[in-house]
Amino acid sequence: MSAQRSPEISAEFKLRVLRDVAMAKHTSWHVGGPADLFFTPRDAADLASFIRQLPPEVPMLMVGLGSNLLVRDGGIRGAVVSTHGALGTLERLSATRIQAEAGVPCARIARQCVKWGLGPAEFFAGIPGTLGGALAMNAGAWGEETWRHVVEVDVLDRRGFRHTRKAADYEIGYRTVKGPDNEWFIGARLEFERTPGVNTEAIRDLLDKRRQTQPIGEWSCGSVFTNPPKRHAAQLIESAGLKGFRIGDASVSEKHANFIINHGRALAADIEAVIVHVQRTVEKVHGIRLSTEVRIVGVPA
Ligand SMILES: Cc1cc2nc3c(=O)[nH]c(=O)nc-3n(C[C@H](O)[C@H](O)[C@H](O)COP(=O)(O)OP(=O)(O)OC[C@H]3O[C@@H](n4cnc5c(N)ncnc54)[C@H](O)[C@@H]3O)c2cc1C
Repeated sequence: MSAQRSPEISAEFKLRVLRDVAMAKHTSWHVGGPADLFFTPRDAADLASFIRQLPPEVPMLMVGLGSNLLVRDGGIRGAVVSTHGALGTLERLSATRIQAEAGVPCARIARQCVKWGLGPAEFFAGIPGTLGGALAMNAGAWGEETWRHVVEVDVLDRRGFRHTRKAADYEIGYRTVKGPDNEWFIGARLEFERTPGVNTEAIRDLLDKRRQTQPIGEWSCGSVFTNPPKRHAAQLIESAGLKGFRIGDASVSEKHANFIINHGRALAADIEAVIVHVQRTVEKVHGIRLSTEVRIVGVPA
């Protein structure tokens, strides 16, 4: 490990920070090389202390469930902080308002809101990520979006200071969120409506619909590309004849052309090569350049 790859960690955290952790274990594509440092905080205060002692030149990446992340095979230089299994409180603040920490899985928010008689939060059920990831991505489904419900977020900056920001402090778009640089979400207050009739059947129906049209259960990151204005990426990919296109153990799904599947042994490089091929082919056939929704991070092997 080079000097640059072994950043100094204070004694307080030394035993709790893992080194050279395979990111393949922390992504839904099950690919990705080692993170130099990997840390799971106990709570938000613990995370703030960790950030404070991390040398400022060490890059930091916050991850949730890795369900929208392609980590390259050479891994990640710097520190990865995982909120999954940490930052997990979820509570009701008032008749229509809830508060959740960044590590809470979206599916749990959907289920709990149904129990509380609040909606529409059912769309969260099929998003296999955390609230933090949903805030970073403005995740959405069935015409709903995360930020439509955000009142305020709590963030930490790179010096470990906590701030509360209003939704209006962010520029929100389709799967894009622009806010102050170098800040990470640790929680949010979300507003819903009273929907006393809502029940878990609504969630079951949405999940059934997904199973009919998406390769649920296979290793993927959901939709790889965002939909261009007024077009569907899946339709563009399918009509370019790319369903089933394969490199190594990665292929365009036969069931939903905007999904790329790892059949078991794919490298991140295989998946990235499929992504590039799809972009080039769709551009050649339709004259439209597809942009990736998935976040590609790390260095090649
Ligand atoms: C089968 C399947 C179906 C999917 N369906 C949908 C869908 O219907 N709609 C949809 O929008 N997405 C969908 N996705 C994609 C994915 O689940 C969402 O983008 C989700 O919000 C990502 O959350 P995560 O916790 O896994 O984030 P990660 O993949 O871990 O991270 C994604 C990005 O968010 C950043 N990030 C994560 N946590 C934080 C934080 N606390 N603070 C700041 N930045 C953070 C990461 O750095 C990264 O840039 C699907 C994925 C799969 C595998």
